[in-house]
Amino acid sequence: MSKVKAITTDAPTGGAVYGDFELPDPEHYSAKLKTIYNGICGTDRGMVAGALPFAYNPEGYKRLVLGHEALAQVVEIEKNEFGIRSGDYVVPIVRRPGKCVNCRIGRMDNCTDGDKHEAGITGMHGFMREYFYDTPENLVKVQDNSILDVAVLAEPLKNVEKAFEVFNKISERSIFLNDFGTYEDKKAVIIGTGSEAFLYSFFARDYGFDTILTNRHPIPDQKTVMVDKSGVEFYDYTKDMDKILEGGIDLLIDTSGHPGTIFQFIRKLNHNGITILFGTNGKAPATDVDGADIDYLIENNITLMGSVDGAREHYFKALEHLRNWRHNYGDIMKDLITKKIPPSDVEIFSNKPGDEIKTIIDWSKA
Ligand SMILES: [Zn+2]
Repeated sequence: MSKVKAITTDAPTGGAVYGDFELPDPEHYSAKLKTIYNGICGTDRGMVAGALPFAYNPEGYKRLVLGHEALAQVVEIEKNEFGIRSGDYVVPIVRRPGKCVNCRIGRMDNCTDGDKHEAGITGMHGFMREYFYDTPENLVKVQDNSILDVAVLAEPLKNVEKAFEVFNKISERSIFLNDFGTYEDKKAVIIGTGSEAFLYSFFARDYGFDTILTNRHPIPDQKTVMVDKSGVEFYDYTKDMDKILEGGIDLLIDTSGHPGTIFQFIRKLNHNGITILFGTNGKAPATDVDGADIDYLIENNITLMGSVDGAREHYFKALEHLRNWRHNYGDIMKDLITKKIPPSDVEIFSNKPGDEIKTIIDWSKA
């Protein structure tokens, strides 16, 4: 057994403790990794609050190491598989395959039977610890060390990569583009103003969509600066709903944790419109759906799609996008990281800073 500094919870009851955690030394491992950064997201906070009934501790453990967003450095590696060498920086993959057909082809994001595990969430220790062990097929190498400061965002961004892959498939059923064969003048509305909302907005903007972020309250100055820099617009929908709905909506994306919010916008979707439901913390509040909303969806050929997680290929695409965005927009991605804290600062899980876009745990501060 070895003691490792870690942030643990008791899933699904909750709580967060930082301290020595005893783990057995692996009998066999391919790579030993040192954690550099962890991102904190709504799932981590939901687990600490005891609000995610699907979370559970690994078999034989009374506690679970938290954390699914990470950047790590390879300390030791047995064989140089997948081009990964000692000293390389890597992003670990969250989902681990079960036995279903989708898991067997590396598409655990499309798991058929729920027999997969998720690091730091369901039955597998996560990455909020100073060291962990893993195998190269679960590690994605960061090819460009100039994005190490933002590479931890590859995990949330891979969800967006996958959602747009599904969007591409659905939008092919009709001509979704404008008369010039582009997405320009098409409108994307993204509900929410957290890090996933910003990542979706960068993606929609790159497609050429007129992109609007919206929430039910104004946003702090720091977020206003981000919105301005990134060429998207923000409107508080409790005040400026008419500006959001003008000209209709072609792509509606919910990241708010309250997916029922889409029904405030749904009857302004244009023909063949697409809605991506992304944000839930596992306990979406109940929502009344009007019969007229259902009629509208049917009559206008509108698709509602749910999307969760992403596969190895999406981590690669996410790292490539981070690289492009660094090149095209400078430090804008870095500005998404609003705070870096030491791992001992576990109150962060229950006290979300008002101006937070993404808070990062920095293990060099341990
Ligand atoms: Zn599966």
